[in-house]
Amino acid sequence: MSDCLFCKIAAGEIPSSKVYEDESVLAFRDINPQAPTHILVIPKQHVADSAAQVTPENSAAVAHCFEIIAKIAAQEGLDAGFRVITNAGAAAGQTVPHLHFHILAGVEMADKML
Ligand code: 5GP
Ligand code: ZN
Repeated sequence: MSDCLFCKIAAGEIPSSKVYEDESVLAFRDINPQAPTHILVIPKQHVADSAAQVTPENSAAVAHCFEIIAKIAAQEGLDAGFRVITNAGAAAGQTVPHLHFHILAGVEMADKML
């Protein structure tokens, strides 16, 4: 999608601090980190706006993102643990409508998720 921020980052039109890249996935550091490690993992293709649009046709992209999340966790040494978050919709705090997963680590997390 031409006016999508993360499509532009995936295309290299907007610079990012890359952590991992292959033919279908890009991971980069969040511009406004909410933890010492805060990485965004996106399918390069705009397969869905959010988790609300995952279907049998595009779920392989989600599975691949999670394979890469495991790789990044090892690469970044997140042995103590990490949290993966995806926001779907404005009420969940989603600001960029391109499916993405936040990897958060390096801080003591609350027992509760909210
Ligand atoms: P959401 O709120 O949609 O779940 O997550 C969007 C994330 O993208 C936010 O954490 C925000 O800080 C991050 N973000 C917004 N614009 C940019 C940008 O231009 N570059 C990077 N690296 N992150 C961005
Ligand atoms: Zn997009």
